[in-house]
Amino acid sequence: MSHSAAGFSRPPVLFCDFDGTITLSDNIVAVMKHFNPPGWEAIVGDIVAETKTVKQGVGEMFALFPVSMREEVTQYILTNAGIRDGFPELLAWCRQHDVPFYVTSGGIDFFVYPLLKPFDIAPDHIYCNGSDFTGDTIRITWPHACDDECAHGGCGMCKTAVIRKFPQDRYFRILIGDSVTDFPGAKIVDLVFSRSHLTDKCVELGLPHIPFGTFHDVIQHLEQGGLRP
Ligand SMILES: [Mg+2]
Ligand SMILES: [Zn+2]
Repeated sequence: MSHSAAGFSRPPVLFCDFDGTITLSDNIVAVMKHFNPPGWEAIVGDIVAETKTVKQGVGEMFALFPVSMREEVTQYILTNAGIRDGFPELLAWCRQHDVPFYVTSGGIDFFVYPLLKPFDIAPDHIYCNGSDFTGDTIRITWPHACDDECAHGGCGMCKTAVIRKFPQDRYFRILIGDSVTDFPGAKIVDLVFSRSHLTDKCVELGLPHIPFGTFHDVIQHLEQGGLRP
């Protein structure tokens, strides 16, 4: 009796966004607002409007910071980021029910890994972007960039490439997220737990989704087998 997630037609697997989903707000936006480097607002506007790729925009925003600000930026995020209620409980639920849990983040390693440290998630279950502080300005690296099959392109950290490792005929694929970095993945999964802009996008595209507030809500719906009429 492996999974009592018996309400699902196939074994579920979860892909969970980090910024604004596991954390209460988007850490990249928070850093930009706080330090306010000239030009960041136009870049965010272009990303949200999808006239600039996430990869291009995020790269440009961090290039606004000299590497000398590494500690200050890191400390600001570690001090101010809050974790959404129910996150440890969701991880415990996944362990208990043998449901694989992956963090699929468009965030950067220097803050994603420290913030997740208390939760004991296997490192190979955390996907995010990298960083290089050897130049004059912060350079973002892209160890999980789009593959040939990504219909979107320019994801930075390509969530669809991670999701496609779990074939749809064998897994019930579930994405949890809130915003623009989740749009491409939302189109190829079986179910979305959505917040904020992602809820609007799911409504617009008619994607199966459940809006949520805390991870306790997510657990409750998982217990019930996802979407019930
Ligand atoms: Mg997000
Ligand atoms: Zn991609």
